[in-house]
Amino acid sequence: MTTRDRESLKRSLFATIESERDRLKTAARDIWESPEVAFRESESSERLQSILREEGFDVEAGIGGVETAFVARYGDEDPVVGTMGEFDALPGMSQRATAERDPVEPGAPGHGCGHNLFGVGSLGGALAVKRAIEDGRLDGSVVFFGTPAEEAGGGKVYMVRAGAFDDVDAVVSWHPGWYNAPNKGSCLANDAFTFTFEGETSHAAAAPEAGRSALDAVQLMNTGVEYMREHVPDAARIHYAVQNGGSAANVVPGEASVEYLVRAPEREEVERLSEWVRDIADAAATMTRTDCTATKTAGLYGVLPNHSLADAIRANMEQAEFSLDDEQAAFAADLRETLGDVEGALGELSESDREAARDAAMFTRPVDATDDEIVGSYSTDSGDVSWNVPLGRFRAATWPVGTPAHSWQAVAAGAELGTAGMEFAANVIAATMADLLADDDLRAEARAEFERRSAGHEYESPLPGDADPYELVSR
Ligand SMILES: [Zn+2]
Repeated sequence: MTTRDRESLKRSLFATIESERDRLKTAARDIWESPEVAFRESESSERLQSILREEGFDVEAGIGGVETAFVARYGDEDPVVGTMGEFDALPGMSQRATAERDPVEPGAPGHGCGHNLFGVGSLGGALAVKRAIEDGRLDGSVVFFGTPAEEAGGGKVYMVRAGAFDDVDAVVSWHPGWYNAPNKGSCLANDAFTFTFEGETSHAAAAPEAGRSALDAVQLMNTGVEYMREHVPDAARIHYAVQNGGSAANVVPGEASVEYLVRAPEREEVERLSEWVRDIADAAATMTRTDCTATKTAGLYGVLPNHSLADAIRANMEQAEFSLDDEQAAFAADLRETLGDVEGALGELSESDREAARDAAMFTRPVDATDDEIVGSYSTDSGDVSWNVPLGRFRAATWPVGTPAHSWQAVAAGAELGTAGMEFAANVIAATMADLLADDDLRAEARAEFERRSAGHEYESPLPGDADPYELVSR
C-alpha cells in the first residue's frame, strides 16, 4: 500500500468514527450512568457486546471463568490485530456531571477512571477497522477484547490464562488521562495475599493463659515486615491492611487476618519478596503458637513496553484530529477551576509542553512519551497481556489539565466532555491497527522487540493454581 493510499485509508477510518459519534457517545453515557464495579459489570459488558453483535462480530462471553469477560472477532484471516476495552467503575465514586462535588447517590460507584470512555473508545476503533476489512480496503481480522475488573481482581490475567490472546499479532490499547501521549514505560508487578491466623479464644482477664492470640500474630508479622523493609530494593513497595483484628478487648482474639500487597518492577523480585513475607507470617505463627493460612488472591506482571508500537501510535496522533465543541470547552474550564494548583502534575511534561498546558483547560496537542525508561508506581493487568503479545499503549486527554484519576472531577468529565478524547483515541487505535494490518514490517518489528525484551523470562501465570475470581473478590 502506498503512503498516499494509507493516508486516504486513515481518513476513511476517521470518517467512519465521526459518522458513529452519536452512537458511541450514547453508549459511553449509558455505561457512565449505570456504573458497575469489578466482576459485576454485566450491563456494561452487554452494552458493548450488543453493538459488536449488531456489527457482525462473533462474540464469545465468559472467558476464563469471568462472566463479563468477552472476545469479539471479525474476520478469519491473518494477520490479526486487537484492542482492549475496560468498563468497570470504582466503589464510592458517585458524582454528577457538574463542576462541584455532588454525588448522584452517596457511597455508590462511579466512573472515576474513565473506563466507560475506555471501553467505547476502543470499540470505535475496532468498528472502523472492521468496516475497512468488510469493504476490502484491509486484509486480516480484528478482535475487541472486553476486559472487566481492572480496578480489582485483574480480569485480563484470567483471560490470558484462558489463551484469549494467543493468536493475535499485536494489541493497541489506551487509557483516559489529561494529555495525549504514547506510553514507553513500565510499572510494578505485584502479588496480593490474605494471611489468616487461628489461635484460641479465652477470657482475656480470667484465663489469658488458656488463650492464643491471632491478633498478636498479625502484629508480629507486620512488625517483622517493617524490619524487612530496610533491606528491599528502593523501587519495591509493601503495603498491608488489617481485615480482622478480633471483636472485643476482653476476649483473646481467636482469629485475625491481614491483607498484603507486594510490588516490585521485576516479576522475579516480587516472588522473592513474597516468599520472605510468607516466611515472616509463618514465624509470627510459631512465636504466638497459632496457625497461619496464606491465600494468594491475585498477581500481576509489570508492563513490557513496545517502542515500535508506541512510535506508530505517536505518528497517528499527528493525523487524528482532536475537536472540542463550545459546551465541552466551557465545562472543561469550570472543572479546571476546581483543581486549584496542578503544578505537581505538570511536572510530567517537558518544559515547553508545561508552558502550553499551564493556562489551558484541556491540553489537546499530542506530546512524546513522558514515561520513557520510567517504572511507574502503579500496577495494571495490561502487564500480563504485554508479556503474551506485543502491546502498544497510550493515553488520551479526556479530563482537564492535571486531573488525577479516581477523583470526582474525572467522574464528572467522563459523562460528556471526555467523549472528545474518546473519539480521538478511537481514531488513533483504528489508524494504528490499520498500520499493523497493512504493514508487515511494523508487525515484524513489534514482534522482534517483544522477543528481545522478554528473552530469558518465560511467562507463567501469576494467578494461584485454581483461582476462582468470584471467591477471591467476594472475600
Ligand atoms: Zn483505569
